Amino acid sequence: MENIAHCSTCGKKYAETKPVIVEEDDGKTVLHATCSECKSTTLIFMAATQFGVVSVGMTTDLARNEVQTLFRGGAVSDDQVIEVYEFLKDFRGGVKDII
Ligand SMILES: [Zn+2]
Repeated sequence: MENIAHCSTCGKKYAETKPVIVEEDDGKTVLHATCSECKSTTLIFMAATQFGVVSVGMTTDLARNEVQTLFRGGAVSDDQVIEVYEFLKDFRGGVKDII
């Protein structure tokens, strides 16, 4: 499948830097991508919810290992993923087809 995810900061496609899976369990996947152009990092949440499979991109200052520490520590729950989705309902980032 073509990788059509793109940077939410500068809009460059993540053609060279594939998002890396940070956390994956129970229909919930979290990806971390670094833009090859502007070096900004984006967290991409994908989750199976009552809305279907949703994906939301969020710009972050966290490095990949910091994100992993957060998730391993249980700091981010399914509810929070859904909250992010609710908050960014109108987001059209085009990240849903990356995997
Ligand atoms: Zn960028």
